[in-house]
Amino acid sequence: MKLAIYPGSFDPVTNGHLDLVERGAKLFDRLIVAVLRNLEKEPLFSVTERVEMLREATAGKSNVEVEVFDGLLVDYVRQRQAHVILRGIRAISDYEYELQMAMMNRKIEPNIETVFMMPAEPYSYLSAHVVREIAKLGGPLDGLIPPAVEQRLRAKFS
Ligand code: ADP
Repeated sequence: MKLAIYPGSFDPVTNGHLDLVERGAKLFDRLIVAVLRNLEKEPLFSVTERVEMLREATAGKSNVEVEVFDGLLVDYVRQRQAHVILRGIRAISDYEYELQMAMMNRKIEPNIETVFMMPAEPYSYLSAHVVREIAKLGGPLDGLIPPAVEQRLRAKFS
């Protein structure tokens, strides 16, 4: 039984995240999307809202769960008895940060592997940050986020 953990802030979930969830759910028997509770910056959406949006968006996938985690990622992965961390790589710019994280996690726990996947090309320049910026300025978000997430975003900025 191969279990993978897909951690992130998901503030909010985008179609890029969901593309990765889809790929991960095919590759692994079980996938836990793990939402980081305490972010360095104040998030736009509370952890409860971020989890709700992810649960709605992944409701059709029987081997995908959504949970909240706090503290050291490696501790949470160990606690879940998983051995794989799933992360997405969009552009080269993601690589340096992701490499640093993966190497540091490996140093702390050599039995955990980080697996990287690339999203479909239209999502390769999509980030939650860009989505928040477009929403704040009232721009179009078609095809970038699920409709339910767009509704919540528009409500935040109305
Ligand atoms: P963001 O960078 O959008 O704020 P998170 O911190 O929630 O996202 O990222 C969680 C993981 O999802 C990271 O590995 C990140 O690289 C990946 N990710 C984010 N957006 C995308 C995307 N459009 N395509 C593929 N992976 C992505």
